[in-house]
Amino acid sequence: MRYKSILLFGAPGSGKGTQGKIIGTIPGFYHNATGDIFRSLDLQSEMGRKFWEYAGRGQLVPDEITITLWKQYIKGMEMVNQFHPESEILVLDGIPRNVGQAQLLKDTLDVVKIIHLACGDLSKMVERLRRRALKENRFDDASDEVIRRRLEVYERETKPVLDCYPADKVVLVESTLSQIRVLSEVVKVLVPLKEQIDVDRELSKL
Ligand code: ADP
Repeated sequence: MRYKSILLFGAPGSGKGTQGKIIGTIPGFYHNATGDIFRSLDLQSEMGRKFWEYAGRGQLVPDEITITLWKQYIKGMEMVNQFHPESEILVLDGIPRNVGQAQLLKDTLDVVKIIHLACGDLSKMVERLRRRALKENRFDDASDEVIRRRLEVYERETKPVLDCYPADKVVLVESTLSQIRVLSEVVKVLVPLKEQIDVDRELSKL
């Protein structure tokens, strides 16, 4: 079964994590941030060391490692009854992060919508990342140089992921609006999707 999924899309600092966490509290949605999976790894483990090596330079962890880890994690969540793919929509933050990952996940994800948190003002994004680095102790945003590299990687590697999906699935939301305004725009997208899933489930019971 392919997981019905929504991609939260946007540059580092665009607010995907904040929105994702809130959406994850709504019944029927399961939020998953790939960066959080990586950060939960034991830094002494081989995977943990690899993550540190790449993230510390502002680079993406290689696709093979990322996809294997992500698939294991999500299967695990299914097995321990945290994620129920037949009734929940997966809200993905941070994956797929390049075209290669989008290809590798083609058979696993049924992407129904892409919410693109877009920001025209680069300096605002950098400011957010600097603040977050201090608040959350994020080593990968600790220097302006790494921040700059992460934004470059986003432009070069992540943005082209948008072209892997039909344009009518992409919804643009201005990320510099207030947090609650962004949430309200996002919720507008979620309502019909959730209602459709409920209808389909009811029909499948007949
Ligand atoms: P942000 O929220 O700022 O976009 P994340 O927490 O999503 O950052 O990611 C932090 C770091 O974790 C990335 O810079 C990268 O090194 C690694 N990472 C996260 N997701 C992926 C992914 N899908 N593929 C490769 N690396 C990833």
